Amino acid sequence: MSSVFSKIISKEIPADILYEDDLCLAFRDINPQAPVHFLVIPKNVIESMAGLTAEDEEVVGRCLIVASRVAAEQGLVNGYRLIANTLEDGGQEVPHLHFHVLGGRKLRWPPG
Ligand code: 5GP
Repeated sequence: MSSVFSKIISKEIPADILYEDDLCLAFRDINPQAPVHFLVIPKNVIESMAGLTAEDEEVVGRCLIVASRVAAEQGLVNGYRLIANTLEDGGQEVPHLHFHVLGGRKLRWPPG
């Protein structure tokens, strides 16, 4: 299913891109919930964490490495949170796999 993230990947709509390679894209969330809040997404359309297969291993692994690297570049030396909201109960709104990285303040636990 195509989503707004496909248009960000194709540059049809602008985003504040922090990192890009052949497999992944990292960009700031348009509605930040912390001083640093960016998303890391695969460039190929994977709808969610649900139903990942071994074929997704390389791209998902790359996304997590990118999340770690960009978090360091953003100065999140005290830590951060990595979240993948998944399907309806997980509160997923955009049907394209994305990893949120939030940091720059003390985050509460558990989430709502
Ligand atoms: P979800 O609720 O699906 O886990 O999170 C989707 C995230 O995508 C939200 O935090 C929302 O602010 C972000 N988002 C939705 N549309 C856009 C957009 O057009 N540009 C950017 N940069 N972020 C978006």
